[in-house]
Amino acid sequence: MAINQSLTINSPRLHKRIEDLSKIGRLGETGVCRLALSPEDLQGVQLVKSWMEEAGLTTRIDAFGNLIGRLEGLDDQLPLLMIGSHIDSQPYGGRFDGVIGVLGALEVVQTLTEQGIVPQMAVEIVAFCDEEGSRFNKGLFGVRGLTGRLEEGELERMDGNGVTRRQALIDFGGDPGQFAASQYAEGQVGTFLELHIEQGPILDSLETPVGIVTGISGPLWLTVEMTGFAGHAGSVPMSMRRDALVGSAKVILALHDLASSEPGAPTVGTVGSLTVFPNSRNIIPEKVTFTVDLRDIDMDRRDRRELQLLALLDRAAQEYGLTYTLREDTNSEARFCADWIKKVMEEQAGEMGLSPPKLMSGPFHDSLTMSYFCDYGMIFVRCKDGISHNPLEYSSPQDISIGTELLYRTAVHIASQGAGRD
Ligand SMILES: [Zn+2]
Repeated sequence: MAINQSLTINSPRLHKRIEDLSKIGRLGETGVCRLALSPEDLQGVQLVKSWMEEAGLTTRIDAFGNLIGRLEGLDDQLPLLMIGSHIDSQPYGGRFDGVIGVLGALEVVQTLTEQGIVPQMAVEIVAFCDEEGSRFNKGLFGVRGLTGRLEEGELERMDGNGVTRRQALIDFGGDPGQFAASQYAEGQVGTFLELHIEQGPILDSLETPVGIVTGISGPLWLTVEMTGFAGHAGSVPMSMRRDALVGSAKVILALHDLASSEPGAPTVGTVGSLTVFPNSRNIIPEKVTFTVDLRDIDMDRRDRRELQLLALLDRAAQEYGLTYTLREDTNSEARFCADWIKKVMEEQAGEMGLSPPKLMSGPFHDSLTMSYFCDYGMIFVRCKDGISHNPLEYSSPQDISIGTELLYRTAVHIASQGAGRD
């Protein structure tokens, strides 16, 4: 294929690494489970670190648990070019989510060096710690640490086994006492680039290998706890019950209906986690905790849906005699990619004989946080049927190579231009 012949990157090396990393925390035939700050996560980080060193980068794991590999540039006073993503996974995850962004970035820098190109500015490759947020119910930890956006109480968050993030981070090799020293100064990073699988079906439906991301829609994450009163399932009459699960079910359905209420709109709403107490077949549920994930590109519409949901929550609580608490875990607005980076990507793709479509990202990524810190750009790689956060997640080696090549050419262009901006 014409595109393949013009690849500068070393495809076999890239795919061998993706395959090797997928063996750590392997789940069944094709899945992975590398929860943030777990022994498997550390093993993965150590492996990637060894590859970074093989590629001639200076490496370190910072206080937040981020793995950083650095290639010096001609002028280290210039804002640096940072490229990366994450290698932690969901408990029931795939092999490519995050991974292609880290190993693709590594391939970019290794190729750069092999081509004898010395970048104007230093280039750093990052595998950010805990992007997924699955274990401690709040993600983007490493990237928020690096950019000074952590919030009160984050280290006291506990996983399902009662382990605090503080303890997990220390066990991993991070250091809560050294956060300030690992934080980057405003202006230190000029550009951030991320390669990621789309995690949605648009590129697959367009039968095209890569796309240029225009922005990331804002997620709202809530945790709702509804409390009623436990009783014997065999004796308490229906009219006297205060069943927390029935009230919760009403809210969960309401979220689904609200997110579907405008045909064609990209609004999505999900309750993905539910805990029932005491969780016994013959006891009326007393307490139910569930998460809400609500996203949209249009902030006004998302805010309207949130208000509607909260009104329905209040009504459901009254109807079933429940009390409730509401916690906002994450509230991000839509963040748009820099126009000049999209232009560079478009030009470079054109030279590769591609005309990638532009698309928004529904899922958030490390780029979301970086967008508050510097200009950012993202490349999406087609993933089969849009399946992700699932062992069935699949992107073809060919598509990943094309995405990595586009990342390489974009990086070369930026690295040879200094700041990259006109
Ligand atoms: Zn990801």
